[in-house]
Amino acid sequence: MNIKTVKRTLANVTFPAMWHTKSYLLTRPFFSGLGSILMFHRVCPEQPGPRIRGNSGLEVTPEYLEATIKYFMRNDYEFVSLDRIYEILNGKPSGKKFVAYTFDDGYVDNFTHAFPIFKRYNIPFSIYVTTNFPDREAVMWWYLLEDLVLEKKNIEWTFEGHTRKFSCATEADREMTFHRLRTEFSKSDGSLAQNHLIRFFESHQIDPHLKSRELALNWEQIAEMSGHPLVTLGAHTVSHPALNKLTDRDVIQEIEQSREKIQTWTGRKVEHFSYPFGTRAEAGEREFAIVKSCGFKTATTTRPANIFPGHRYHKECLPRILINEKRDNREIQYLDLWTHGLLPCILNKFTRVVTA
Ligand SMILES: [Zn+2]
Repeated sequence: MNIKTVKRTLANVTFPAMWHTKSYLLTRPFFSGLGSILMFHRVCPEQPGPRIRGNSGLEVTPEYLEATIKYFMRNDYEFVSLDRIYEILNGKPSGKKFVAYTFDDGYVDNFTHAFPIFKRYNIPFSIYVTTNFPDREAVMWWYLLEDLVLEKKNIEWTFEGHTRKFSCATEADREMTFHRLRTEFSKSDGSLAQNHLIRFFESHQIDPHLKSRELALNWEQIAEMSGHPLVTLGAHTVSHPALNKLTDRDVIQEIEQSREKIQTWTGRKVEHFSYPFGTRAEAGEREFAIVKSCGFKTATTTRPANIFPGHRYHKECLPRILINEKRDNREIQYLDLWTHGLLPCILNKFTRVVTA
């Protein structure tokens, strides 16, 4: 079974079965915890035309974002900032379950689409900024690659002396080519590989920094949001590397430089961090220890789980629930499967306090 079939089965068969049998109520007392930290990337209206699923999964529509807010209001959650989570974990709970909204990377639609919604509902939210985004130095290869895959009949990729050809003829080919090239690109991390990627796109007459000009927040927008009481800005490194592939010195540099730059532009202290990619394949014990020694109040991963009192001792690696409108077939009730802990319980093999 390929990935696409697995995802379709989840959305069309497994999620409805789990939801209609109300099996998520069984896990609620044990796996819903104190609350959830949600993870988003982009908030933007549905784009017309063909898309690559891997990227469109990073996006929710403004309507869906609003639907999640109403869901948590209906379920009597407290909407909290990351500072408040720090307090809750240090022994000041409010009695209600909490939810925190977080956005990774620093896309411009966080300012144009999400910020007005959060202001309307008076709800705090956080953005973890990769500083290469507003510096216009990021090579957003995942969006450049999407355009290329949708435009070409086939693509040649040469790395370490090996040339491979990928077909983009059918929809299935395009999904597969995107998936395979994404794996290749992610494997080839570091500045040398970055230069290689830049040359790859330039050889197709594509400006490698085009998407960061189109899609990233600029510093003026970041500075404006930082002055708003609902907004927390966190660091997300300079260049969004897989930190476990770097030396200790480079990890510290990626973290501290991004923090200092955001502080300089906003005049505010940056006390929260999120790990690029954030899975076990990119961030683990060494990275958690370094981030802790840098003195952040909290740091978040992308391990899928809710937050428990035991996270008091693991504030440098708090798990999050990814919100993916497409995965959930736009059905807001499937959030029950995450917030009540059924899916986290299965995915984490019955571990409650998910850390490393
Ligand atoms: Zn990220």
